[in-house]
Amino acid sequence: GAQATEVETVVIGSGPGGYVAAIRAAELGQKVTLIESGEIGGVCLNVGCIPSKALINIGHHYRDEMTEQPFGLHATGVSLDWAATQDWKQKKVVERLTGGVAMLLKKHHVDIVRGTASFNDNEQINVIEGDNHELFQFKNCIIATGSRPVQIPGFEFANRIVDSTGALSLPAVPKHLIVIGGGVIGSELGGLYLNLGAKVTIIEGLDHVLNGFDAELIKPVLDDFKAQGGEIYTSAKAKSAVQTDNGVAVTFEADGKEQTVTGDYLLVSVGRRPNTDELGLNNTNVKLDEHGLIQVDDRMATTAAHIYAIGDVTAGPALAHKASFQAKIAAAAISGDPQARDLHYSLPAVAYTNYELATTGETPESIKEKNLDAKAYKFPFAANGRALAMNAGTGFIRLISDNQSKALIGAQIVGPGASDLISELSLAIENGLTTEDISLTIHPHPTLGEAIMDAAELADGLPIHI
Ligand code: FAD
Repeated sequence: GAQATEVETVVIGSGPGGYVAAIRAAELGQKVTLIESGEIGGVCLNVGCIPSKALINIGHHYRDEMTEQPFGLHATGVSLDWAATQDWKQKKVVERLTGGVAMLLKKHHVDIVRGTASFNDNEQINVIEGDNHELFQFKNCIIATGSRPVQIPGFEFANRIVDSTGALSLPAVPKHLIVIGGGVIGSELGGLYLNLGAKVTIIEGLDHVLNGFDAELIKPVLDDFKAQGGEIYTSAKAKSAVQTDNGVAVTFEADGKEQTVTGDYLLVSVGRRPNTDELGLNNTNVKLDEHGLIQVDDRMATTAAHIYAIGDVTAGPALAHKASFQAKIAAAAISGDPQARDLHYSLPAVAYTNYELATTGETPESIKEKNLDAKAYKFPFAANGRALAMNAGTGFIRLISDNQSKALIGAQIVGPGASDLISELSLAIENGLTTEDISLTIHPHPTLGEAIMDAAELADGLPIHI
């Protein structure tokens, strides 16, 4: 057989899991080989987090310009050159960032091998690129092959039925976008096209959209979505999709009756499945769970010696920052520093809906389920000067603190800046800070962050602004 190249550490996949693992392992003294079958940066940088946020940003600008504002600014002659928007997203955002990652990998002397990897056994992978293949014998391996959209029978991706990748590069802003699956991705992209002037219909199987965020939190998002003319059907079952030359008709059952809605595109966003089925894992001791996710311990070690797994191929929420955090644990573990962390305590999650949603740590439901002696305190953005100055006084910050220790154990935000504000609260939780620690920290005025201090003062029983 062909001679295998001996390498120290192999990382498979270059998403926010793989590229971070490669750089950190190199920093800790490993010689790293990174295998990538697609684009450097993975889903997140190429067709996920980054391009979606770029378009969502444009959606906000467009909506602001097109809506009558209460502060006397009248915009006329606003138009959207969608081709230019797409070009900007690709060249100035995605390619700049992925180019930056490629440079960082080079700086850390990471060897990049293009091709599709699969395992021959517990110590060897085969990498296929076109007609060529190459064998690598490794000391350590980190699997970071990510996930792909789930396809459902009868709704296969083609032409006018698109996955999230297709929805980020539509040839034109749709007149009517139908979305099956109102999770975070479906709701973010639905909100984006609503802002760009499309009619949007979301069809969701559960009795609520944005699973993972509670009803009180998502209410401002839903109210806004509906006020803009968006339609949401919950407890609905999509039955069939029929494509025509210029559209697609979707039949679904909701409220006990069958209905058909016609749009120009259908986005199917019903979840993602791990890329573990074509890796040859049956040739190794790596064990999968019933969802095809790789079983790992708290050091990200699989059931096979020297093979680790991180990111969307492991259990837990499919989030880029989870993948990157696990990457650092795995890189430390293979470098002899068995640093293991409890990832799931204050792992924040954000939805970039029209009012941003963010959560970290415990929630009102989780404290009930766990029977914790804790209480929630809410401070509205309507009482925050900066929010009013931004014409963004909708939403609130909710802190959850332990009644005995007063430690912050959870927080949720809906409203302006939620995605950035949540980090302060994760920091507080990770470090066992009390609400008094937060209220005794000077927050600059006027800022959205003051609402965190105000919520903490409320929890201390010494509120000023409410
Ligand atoms: P991926 O990013 O999926 O990367 C895996 C890489 O492995 C890919 O490049 C793939 O080509 C490669 N690969 C696969 N198999 C092989 C093989 N056999 N050989 C070689 N290479 C292989 N998360 C957030 O935290 N915030 C967000 O705002 C957010 N927005 C999102 C928006 C959209 C539209 C989507 C689809 C996802 C979003 N996510 C977001 C989720 C986020 O993108 C993923 O959680 C993240 O990319 C997972 O990282 P990963 O490193 O595990 O895998």
